[in-house]
Amino acid sequence: MSKFSDLTRLPDARGHFGPYGGRFVSETLSFALEDLEKTYMSLRNDPDFQAEFDRDLAHYVGRPSPLYHAERWSRQLGGAQIWLKREDLNHTGAHKVNNTIGQALLAKRSGKPRVIAETGAGQHGVATATVAARLGLKCEVYMGAEDIKRQKLNVYRMRLLGANVISVESGTRTLKDAMNEALRDWVTNVDDTFYIIGTVAGPHPYPLLVRDFNAVVGREAREQSLKQIGRLPDTLIACVGGGSNALGLFYPFVEDEDVHMIGVEAGGDGIETGRHAAPLSANAPQGVLHGNRTYLMSDEGGQVSSTHSISAGLDYPGVGPEHALWKDVGRVEYVAANDKEVLEAFRELTHVEGIMPALEPAHALAHAKVLAPTMRPDQHIIVNLSGRGDKDILTVAKIDGMDF
Ligand SMILES: *Cc1c(COP(=O)(O)O)cnc(C)c1O
Repeated sequence: MSKFSDLTRLPDARGHFGPYGGRFVSETLSFALEDLEKTYMSLRNDPDFQAEFDRDLAHYVGRPSPLYHAERWSRQLGGAQIWLKREDLNHTGAHKVNNTIGQALLAKRSGKPRVIAETGAGQHGVATATVAARLGLKCEVYMGAEDIKRQKLNVYRMRLLGANVISVESGTRTLKDAMNEALRDWVTNVDDTFYIIGTVAGPHPYPLLVRDFNAVVGREAREQSLKQIGRLPDTLIACVGGGSNALGLFYPFVEDEDVHMIGVEAGGDGIETGRHAAPLSANAPQGVLHGNRTYLMSDEGGQVSSTHSISAGLDYPGVGPEHALWKDVGRVEYVAANDKEVLEAFRELTHVEGIMPALEPAHALAHAKVLAPTMRPDQHIIVNLSGRGDKDILTVAKIDGMDF
């Protein structure tokens, strides 16, 4: 028995992770969410459903993803051995497809011909448009007008895949506004529409099912580390936006008390400047956003604050409710890496290992860079390399003064 065994039995029947999570929505959505919960709970341990999911992960996504020993980088840092869980090698280039495959299968089983999604940087939109194309589902993706301007390539990718991208003009015209609009669409069209949420946030049962679909990452990493390292790792590190890649890696290790887990949030210009997206490390107040209670960056009047990060995928003022609980009970340590450190880590991994990470996991790498030299060479760190960097080349080029 581990003192953390209770954490594997959550959430409760109403979707609470301790005081967090829940289902703060209108009555219409409440019914739709109860339906979804019933469908999911009946399929969660259904061997046919799991077999179909596993088959898709193997033959469409390309799983298992390798656990790669970054030997040269480890030697250069002069401390612990660093291993990279290569989610960047998945079809569509990130961990997000694990979850969209799972939810698309749920949409199919529910007989819903139309799927909707929200997206910030466009990665979740692309992953959703991809699985919708494959299953022949109609797909509409809500995206803030500001993000559409910043992420033209992904917008075009979604259109090529057959999705309709809807520009959101409300609020700050970014991810949180896109999520509001998607929820509004769902209320109107619940009968024929399945809402595919991209991270471990939203109302119950989304945080639970998104975590379950991503937990394949941690199950593989556990098995691979026993085989390749000969034991469990000392430390796991993952970046945290909404928190799905981190929970996916961490969850299967939650009862292994000796495995230290670190979630790295977007420090932006630095926590002290207020220009960041790190609600947990900054000890933000608690509040309700998108149907769940969590740590939420907001001002004294309760208005949700605007956030800042070099990486659009981490630019979210809230965080999944299960992370909020894990912070409170001390199971996971939450820290932040700022934009400058992130760029350094991005360049360093590219140069030393020939692997170009997305700017999101470059946050996790930035922390590994600080931590590894304080550890011994016979200790082991696994970093979740949640996605590849191709999508971020233009962002980095602009910083370098290149003009395309
Ligand atoms: C979207 C994204 C993230 C952030 O989302 P989480 O739910 O926190 O995992 C991290 N890495 C990549 C590559 C992403 O595309």
